[in-house]
Amino acid sequence: MGILTTFAKSLGVIRRASQRDFSNVGFVGLGNMGAYMAKNLIKKGYRLTVYDINEKAIENVVSAGAKGAASVAEVSKNSEVLVTMLPMNQHVLECYTSKTGIISAAKKGTLLVDSSTIDPTVSQTIAKEAEKNGLRFIDGPVSGGVVGAENATLTFMVGGSKLDFEGARTFLEAMGSRAVHCGDIGMGQVAKICNNMLLAISMIGVSEALNLGDKLGLNPKILTDIINTSTGRCWSSEIYSPIPGLIPTVPSSNDYNGGFSTALIAKDLGLAQASATRTGSPIALGSLSHQIYRTMMAHGLGGKDFSVIYQYIREEDKK
Ligand code: NAD
Repeated sequence: MGILTTFAKSLGVIRRASQRDFSNVGFVGLGNMGAYMAKNLIKKGYRLTVYDINEKAIENVVSAGAKGAASVAEVSKNSEVLVTMLPMNQHVLECYTSKTGIISAAKKGTLLVDSSTIDPTVSQTIAKEAEKNGLRFIDGPVSGGVVGAENATLTFMVGGSKLDFEGARTFLEAMGSRAVHCGDIGMGQVAKICNNMLLAISMIGVSEALNLGDKLGLNPKILTDIINTSTGRCWSSEIYSPIPGLIPTVPSSNDYNGGFSTALIAKDLGLAQASATRTGSPIALGSLSHQIYRTMMAHGLGGKDFSVIYQYIREEDKK
């Protein structure tokens, strides 16, 4: 055996040892994102035990091959790795730290992965509790939306030790196409909320520009083409146009249904606002966009995709 082959083989051993894989997986929170993520794990051969407060959500994933549980504690005590995909801070805190929660029931050494989008300080609090109980915790929020969850093309932004990240990597990539180590606990959440704040702002900017051009007599489709080959180009103008009919597959062409809801982007802006208040950082546009999306929610648009801002601006302009 040549020296290069020996070297490559020994590297392989190191890689396998650090990328520990798991037989028994727990999954809590089987909503729009979690149900698809859990089903992708089942497809890749993992044995899943699942829980949600909504029985129908459990039945949905059980029909794909998971075992249903009666509580988070039941999921937790049977798992080597456990993923949570829950709506907000309070749900995640309760699930992990209540007396009958995940941390109290888990076996020592269990790896806990929270993929919900929450406040980084909540991730840090949970990680401390987990460590006290001999457990490992990483935050791993995702981008890619429901389509990415369904097609297993999510990007995981991970906060935690490098060792735990490497140990979880193969497992995470069963639900996505990419996992990036962002730094210590909470840094996955920081990456997620900063990105979403920028996205929220850019969608408003694109919508204002397109509406103003239209009001001045310029066809929004022509203006979009110009923007997309000019300096204003961004994801919101090019890939996810808020103009109905321009890109057939995006929510604006489906009466703003599906996609990423106004309520969820407003939630993420609230997280950015709370974080910026703690650090004293100026986020004038982030704060303003938070208020704009919240006002849209008050107008009954919370369930529509956030690109509905374009329609909202046009309605306001008519008044
Ligand atoms: P969702 O509301 O569809 O699903 C959440 C699930 O959690 C529901 O089934 C609910 O019944 C369950 N749940 C709530 N409290 C619970 C508890 N105490 N115990 C067990 N189950 C409980 O939300 P979603 O769209 O799947 O989003 C989940 C998280 O992912 C959110 O933090 C969201 O911001 C983030 N996210 C969503 C998207 C998206 O496009 N939907 C994209 C990226 C990230």
